[in-house]
Amino acid sequence: ANGDQTKEPACFSSVIPGWFSEMSPMWPGEAHSLKVEKVLFQGKSDYQDVIVFQSATYGKVLVLDGVIQLTERDECAYQEMITHLPLCSIPNPKKVLVIGGGDGGVLREVARHASVEQIDMCEIDKMVVDVSKQFFPNVAIGYEDPRVNLVIGDGVAFLKNAAEGSYDAVIVDSSDPIGPAKELFEKPFFQSVARALRPGGVVCTQAESLWLHMDIIEDIVSNCREIFKGSVNYAWTSVPTYPSGVIGFMLCSTEGPDVDFKHPVNPIDESSSKSNGPLKFYNAEIHSAAFCLPSFAKKVIESK
Ligand code: SAM
Repeated sequence: ANGDQTKEPACFSSVIPGWFSEMSPMWPGEAHSLKVEKVLFQGKSDYQDVIVFQSATYGKVLVLDGVIQLTERDECAYQEMITHLPLCSIPNPKKVLVIGGGDGGVLREVARHASVEQIDMCEIDKMVVDVSKQFFPNVAIGYEDPRVNLVIGDGVAFLKNAAEGSYDAVIVDSSDPIGPAKELFEKPFFQSVARALRPGGVVCTQAESLWLHMDIIEDIVSNCREIFKGSVNYAWTSVPTYPSGVIGFMLCSTEGPDVDFKHPVNPIDESSSKSNGPLKFYNAEIHSAAFCLPSFAKKVIESK
């Protein structure tokens, strides 16, 4: 059943009445706003507040703890990049682990890779999965793939127990490091990821905004340089409804066969468009371009 829809959440009225305004201590002094047509769902899970609303210009919007996770209009930019940057960088990925990503969009994208035999996913919050299946069928379509094995639980614990060297790729589609995703940005988590990857395996994690979070990015980069003995790279893309309009990814490989993330070796099979719809954002050119950094960020990231 839908949650209590009678009380208007503070973020709907605090800046412009009838608009959702995204406010967080992670981006003080600014708040991106979207006009709300209708609130479709409001609930509180064991982990976070969950809201779905129909916006005037970006389709339906999923909000967790007051922060936009996806909109129907621009989710392609995030889901396609966080998935294909790692999977198109290695030949024949077979076993893939997704941490977070409860909406199912990353699963939809992983499923485009015909070489993949097993897709494990560990999402902490069942309410996100259920709400996505109800309101975002074109995103949650990822759950229909028979290769998917969904575990509801904490990604940190899941990875601690994962068999050593067992995955070709790990994709960490997490929320921000306030709330349940905090540990997904810390060193012990990256150590478990490295342990779970096979030699020359790859990880791609959500790594915040160059404009807002250079301090977080610096910490992630220096941890990753210590832990991953293959390559360590930062990439970014444009997602209009994320704070500052951009989002970054940390891409690393473990020691073993060389991975050159900037030059994709594993193109996506065009026939995947039949079942999963056409790619809307990703292509080989944008893959390589994603690793070009503005000078201010290049200086900091390369010095770590
Ligand atoms: N895929 C989305 C998009 O298109 O932008 C964005 C983020 S996704 C919904 C983030 C997910 O990470 C949430 O569903 C959240 O419940 C999950 N999550 C947060 N902490 C977690 C943890 N410790 N273990 C597993 N999942 C976690």
